[in-house]
Amino acid sequence: MHEIHHRQTLLGWLGEAGQARLTGAHALVVGCGALGGVIVEWLARAGVGELTLVDRDVVEPSNLHRQVLFTERDARDRVAKAEAAARRVREIAPDVRVHACVEHLGPGNAMELARGAGVIVDGLDNIEGRLVLNDLAVRERIPFVHAAAVAMQGRSLAVLPDGACLRCVFPEMPQPGALETCDTAGVAGPVVGLAGSFAALQAMRVLVGRMDLVDRGLWCADLDRNRFVSVATQRDPACACCVGRKFEFLQASGERTASLCGRGAVQVLPASGARGSVSLERLAARLQAHGRFDRQGDRLHGAINSARNADGVPYELTVFADGRAIVGRCTDRDAALGVYDRFVGG
Ligand SMILES: [Zn+2]
Repeated sequence: MHEIHHRQTLLGWLGEAGQARLTGAHALVVGCGALGGVIVEWLARAGVGELTLVDRDVVEPSNLHRQVLFTERDARDRVAKAEAAARRVREIAPDVRVHACVEHLGPGNAMELARGAGVIVDGLDNIEGRLVLNDLAVRERIPFVHAAAVAMQGRSLAVLPDGACLRCVFPEMPQPGALETCDTAGVAGPVVGLAGSFAALQAMRVLVGRMDLVDRGLWCADLDRNRFVSVATQRDPACACCVGRKFEFLQASGERTASLCGRGAVQVLPASGARGSVSLERLAARLQAHGRFDRQGDRLHGAINSARNADGVPYELTVFADGRAIVGRCTDRDAALGVYDRFVGG
C-alpha cells in the first residue's frame, strides 16, 4: 500500500482491500472541464489505476475560474483539455495510466472508449452526450455517475444496472438548447466543485464494490438556498431505455467512422440498417485470400496484405459480429472506410 493513500485506507468502507481495487480499476471520465476536472483530480489522487479522459475542446480563458486542472498558460496556448488534464494527472500521480482522448464521444466511438471501464463518470455539459452515456451504461451494464452544475445548482445521479436510469428520472428531457447553460446563466466554481466531488465519491464507492453505500437518489444541491437533498428514484416501467432496452441515442445515425485515440486505428460502423448482418464464418472464408484471419469469439482479426497504409504496412482489420470494424495501422478515416467497404462490404 502506497503511503500516499494511507489516510483514505483508514476509512472503514475503503480499507486496504478497497485501495487494491482502486489500483486495479479503470474509470472513463467524459468531459474534462469544470466537473470533469474535479472528478479526474479526485480519482487520480485516490489511486484509480487507469483513467481515460475524453474531451474535444481546448482550454479558454473563460474556463479558468472553475476548471481546476488548467492554468493561464494552457488557455494562452489553447491546449486540448484532455491533454492538459492528462499532463496534470501525471504530475499529481505518475503511477496512474492515463489516456487523453481529444475527440467527441458519440455513437461511433463510445463502446471503444468505455472498453474495460468499471465506471463511467459524466463531466459533460450537454444533454445529448449524457443520453449517449446513459444508453451505453445501461446496455453494457457499466455503472454511470451523472453530474451537472449550472449557476448555483448542482446535481448527481448514479445509474446502476439494477436501478433507475437518467431517462427514468428525466422522462421529459428538454430539447437541446432549451436549458440554461454555464455560458448563458453563469456558474460558481465551488458549486461545480461540490457536484464533481460528490460524483467522484460515488464513483469511488462503485469501484471499491460498495454499491450499498452509493446514494441511489437524485442528489441536488441548491446553493441559492443552501439546501441539499437526495430525492428517491425508481425505475419507470415505461422507460424506453432501461426497461424497453431501446438505445436510440447510441444508435443515432451519423458519422460512420471515428478515430480511436492513441491506437492508430479507426472504427467503422456498417451503413445504417446493416447491423447484425455479418456472418464471420463467411467473411473469414472470403478474406483468406488477403491474409491470415483468426476468429476470436465474436470477432475476426487479421492483417490485409493487399491493402497497405502510406508506410507500406498492411492494415489490420478486426470485424465484430454486429458489423462494426476496427481498421488498425490507420489514421485516415476515409481510408478506413474504403478498407471496410472493400473487404467487409456494406
Ligand atoms: Zn430508465
